[in-house]
Amino acid sequence: MSPEILLRDHGLRVTRPRIAVLEVLAEGGHFEVDEIANRVRGRLETVSMQAVYDVLGALARVGLARRIEPAGSPALYERRVGDNHHHVVCRSCGAIADIDCAVGAAPCLTASDDRGFSIDEAEVTYWGMCPECVATPATS
Ligand SMILES: [Zn+2]
Ligand SMILES: [Zn+2]
Ligand SMILES: [Zn+2]
Repeated sequence: MSPEILLRDHGLRVTRPRIAVLEVLAEGGHFEVDEIANRVRGRLETVSMQAVYDVLGALARVGLARRIEPAGSPALYERRVGDNHHHVVCRSCGAIADIDCAVGAAPCLTASDDRGFSIDEAEVTYWGMCPECVATPATS
């Protein structure tokens, strides 16, 4: 689906920065705001950091982007939304990868005792070592 249609379908006005950010996110992966801004600047002449933040906020609000923030990492944005997938983060180099949710919908972990709360999400992050770091352990 084209960025223009996606934006309209989600009630957002079509603007060049919004289209550019969606195109960057569509390349796949998890991007820091700086990285997104750099790539957007490769497509548009000028766009302020604040504009990029505003666009990402709007996209996340309507569910066109997902914001994740693993401990110790800056906020990351991705286009893959709506499937409650999880992430695995390398303790050594910070590499991050998607892991499909076995259940597919939140909350995928049933609390042993919900303490009377109406629970709608379990934040699951896997931590470990990526294949590269396993193959070449840090010597320091
Ligand atoms: Zn690693
Ligand atoms: Zn992801
Ligand atoms: Zn899950």
